[in-house]
Amino acid sequence: MLSGHGWPAGRAPAVVSGYLERIVRSTRPWPGPPDPYPEGCVLPAGAAGQYGRMATELVLLGTAGAPLPVPGRAGISSALVVDGRVFVVDCGRGTPSGFADAGLDFARLDGIFLSHLHADHTGDLAGLLLYPWGVRVRPDGPVPPVHVYGPGRPAQVPAGDADFCRQTTICPELPAPGTTDLVGHILAGYAYHLNVMPLDAAMPDPGQLVRATDIAVPARAPGQPRVPFVVLDDRGVRVRAVAVTHGHAVPAFAYRFDTADGSVVFSGDTTVNDDLIPLAQGADILVHHVADLGYLQRHGWAGAALDRMAALHTDVTEVGGVAERAGAGELILSHYLPAEPGAVSEQDWVQRAGLGFSGRTTAGRDGLRRTLPGAERR
Ligand SMILES: [Zn+2]
Repeated sequence: MLSGHGWPAGRAPAVVSGYLERIVRSTRPWPGPPDPYPEGCVLPAGAAGQYGRMATELVLLGTAGAPLPVPGRAGISSALVVDGRVFVVDCGRGTPSGFADAGLDFARLDGIFLSHLHADHTGDLAGLLLYPWGVRVRPDGPVPPVHVYGPGRPAQVPAGDADFCRQTTICPELPAPGTTDLVGHILAGYAYHLNVMPLDAAMPDPGQLVRATDIAVPARAPGQPRVPFVVLDDRGVRVRAVAVTHGHAVPAFAYRFDTADGSVVFSGDTTVNDDLIPLAQGADILVHHVADLGYLQRHGWAGAALDRMAALHTDVTEVGGVAERAGAGELILSHYLPAEPGAVSEQDWVQRAGLGFSGRTTAGRDGLRRTLPGAERR
């Protein structure tokens, strides 16, 4: 029997509770943290890198789709650096290493936005929070917590069907945890590390490491399209989101970042979705995932499995139309499926993705950087 929210009646779903509840759940809006490197101070090596104090820069940290690791391409993750503050969208396999390879400063990691809660987008969230713990400090104490934004618990636990169903329900008392639950479980699971390591090495207060926010999705009027809504509006960074369609992953989000230098939209994983168009309207850069469903079909996918993939992803032949309708300046491809770099050539991806798009189409690759137009004009 399920409660009104779809949870087993009589069971407390709040695995994250008490102390963890207090240190995990975001208390935003907050008054705005002090800049970890005030104006005029000497920046640590790599703190600002080549992008300088004011430029806004996009860096692709990983561009592979799907959970299975492949050689030569890291899991999906992107970073946007705004006035030295680093925002990460999705934390796929290898995100912490990609972050370091890009020369970004872990002490300046400000926010993490999860498009949805599949493991290929969240698997290295724990590492991104825990590995740089020791450097998230300054002489007067810890730097402000990293804020993690993402989907909350779904209103209903998704049901399967004849083709795809689960045999075993994992964690039946909380079978579909949200972002706040996930972060709480990470801290709980690594409590040994967080409680014991400070006894052997000087570490900042782990209670100041992270705050999490379950994004509330505004109700949609019957028959009306979804309207983008604000997730964060803080010191020159405005982040909006809209729910997109990615199979049973509900909600799944696309995000738009608006800065003084321009705008970047991250599609997340979605089928072609009309609700993405207003969010991406006029964006300088649209980072969009791509799948080559024809490739999958030629390599053994068929029937219900192929139909299900089509209900999860945007085919490479469709993404140019999305970018054109949105009027984006540049379309950058990411979250490739197939993910193996040699499976489909970059030239092939670009040629087919660019059909119907009058802007510039670029095959994203790990480490690709783009300075936003406003920053280039300075
Ligand atoms: Zn994915």
